[in-house]
Amino acid sequence: MTDKPRFLLCDLDNTLYPPDSGVMQTVGRLITRYIVERVGVPPDDAERLKHQYYRQYGTTMRGLILNHGIDPEDYLAFVHDLPLEQYIQSDPALDAMLASIPLRKAVFTNATREHAELVLDTLGVRHHFEQIIDVRDFSFNSKPHESAYRRILEILNARPGECILVDDAAHNLAPAKAMGIFTVLVGGGPLPAQVPQTEADICIANILHLADAIHPWLAQRKPAPESPFHGFLS
Ligand SMILES: [Mg+2]
Repeated sequence: MTDKPRFLLCDLDNTLYPPDSGVMQTVGRLITRYIVERVGVPPDDAERLKHQYYRQYGTTMRGLILNHGIDPEDYLAFVHDLPLEQYIQSDPALDAMLASIPLRKAVFTNATREHAELVLDTLGVRHHFEQIIDVRDFSFNSKPHESAYRRILEILNARPGECILVDDAAHNLAPAKAMGIFTVLVGGGPLPAQVPQTEADICIANILHLADAIHPWLAQRKPAPESPFHGFLS
């Protein structure tokens, strides 16, 4: 028997707001500054190291923890210290789209709860999310570390087949898809031919297309009504 869909798990940054908003570009500059100022890496090497750790560990933070012993709380406070309202605004279309999806919703982010709350408040969509599962909840083993996905399922008391995960990073979707979570890549292009089959089940250009895109999957997974003769036939 297939699981009934129950949960929509949403990545936060560059998923719930467009990647050209400037938020993550500024966070990226703060990450480079952190590597220079707090880790003591020369400016010329800091940018290279940032990208190298991102590719190698999935997040720069994980590379800095493992190779330089940084304090993750110090790092997270430093890189999220930006005036969000200068980059993103209230998004009524996102609010309406989320309202039309009949699933329980949680944020699943490699950032902090504080940053997530500020983003959700600024977008005006916090009321849709019953939970924010942040990087501390999975002990700084950020996505795409497999334990992060096991942890969110444990927190929600959910099976993989009951969940949809939406993320702008294909490498964050691959472990989820392998576990049986239905995966949606945001910003990867609208055409089916562009869907990377090993990483995402479907691909949408913009988060606002999410409700329409998952509708066929939701309809297909709806459990069949109980037969009135079930007791007699079984
Ligand atoms: Mg993201």
